[in-house]
Amino acid sequence: MKKLILFGPPGAGKGTFSGQIKKILPEITHISTGDIFRENLKNETPLGIKAKSYMDKGELVPDEVVIDMVRDRLNKEDAKTNGFILDGFPRTLRQAEALTDITEIDLLLLLEVSRDIIFKRILGRYGCKNCGEIYNKYTLPPKVEGKCDKCGAEIKFEQRSDDNEETLKNRLDAYEKNAKPIIKYYKKRGNLKKVDAKDTLKYTEDDIKHILEI
Ligand code: AMP
Repeated sequence: MKKLILFGPPGAGKGTFSGQIKKILPEITHISTGDIFRENLKNETPLGIKAKSYMDKGELVPDEVVIDMVRDRLNKEDAKTNGFILDGFPRTLRQAEALTDITEIDLLLLLEVSRDIIFKRILGRYGCKNCGEIYNKYTLPPKVEGKCDKCGAEIKFEQRSDDNEETLKNRLDAYEKNAKPIIKYYKKRGNLKKVDAKDTLKYTEDDIKHILEI
């Protein structure tokens, strides 16, 4: 049972790498705080309404809101029994400290990637509305144009509303400001590992097992 954090700037490929890990550890629970917020936004829940103004601007949702949400999620049976990949949390030192109070994690994987690649990935990113599979206009188009590889539904290029240049700059600034103390915190605890995230799709099953120490 593994308790993992995928850490890195927007566009580092946290979602993609989570998918690769899930192929090896199919039971592991993938928890993306961004996905939870988007789901709540879509359903217009009080949590979604609270998060909306921050997300629209590319700013962080206040710590108390995110921490309570993650605590509830980690206390569910699937995460407790099968372990989890946290994707998009923690994003501040306070969130990291709160997480330690909730549970000990095994490994934080720091996905490293250049700013150039980030811009390309984010501004070209789109998803299948039917099944959520993620593609990229420049680097990862579907095998057959306009048709989802995973579910076969028709797809067209449609960006996430916060995947624009202006918001991306804010999101990168927020990342850079907060990342240093978080990285220091996990380095000190001895459970940080760097991963070259230029092209994680090249990693074999063995490469990933090696990274995860399994
Ligand atoms: P993401 O999908 O991880 O890029 O998250 C999308 C947006 O959700 C972010 O720009 C934030 O507004 C919000 N968000 C997601 N995770 C967190 C977090 N751990 N702390 C604060 N805000 C978050």
